[in-house]
Amino acid sequence: MKKKLEYSEATQRWAESADKCWRCGRGGWWPGSLIIHHIVRGCRRDRDNLSTTAILCQECHIDEHIGNELGIAGCLALKAKHDPQHYNLEAFAKAYRPNATPDYLVELRAKVDAASERLGE
Ligand SMILES: [Zn+2]
Ligand SMILES: [Zn+2]
Repeated sequence: MKKKLEYSEATQRWAESADKCWRCGRGGWWPGSLIIHHIVRGCRRDRDNLSTTAILCQECHIDEHIGNELGIAGCLALKAKHDPQHYNLEAFAKAYRPNATPDYLVELRAKVDAASERLGE
């Protein structure tokens, strides 16, 4: 048993279907050279909330955590591009800022749109 059992079956299947890092495009597999990154920093209450997860290689994952990061909007833009099926800003905002006003979602959407444009360049 080499699977990471702290994840649900659905999350494991989701991660196993990944074949490259969303950030740099390097090929890989999970569990192995690819890592499940939780876009919501420090919030791991619901590790299986797929609106809050991204697939990164080891190096990009380190970058994401030591300061050279795309940040929340950048990771969500990657999510929209590589995993549109689970891209859900409402669900993300609920997990990240349960008490946020509707304005927060508007603001977040604008940031993600701007980040998506930068990625597209
Ligand atoms: Zn990478
Ligand atoms: Zn991480």
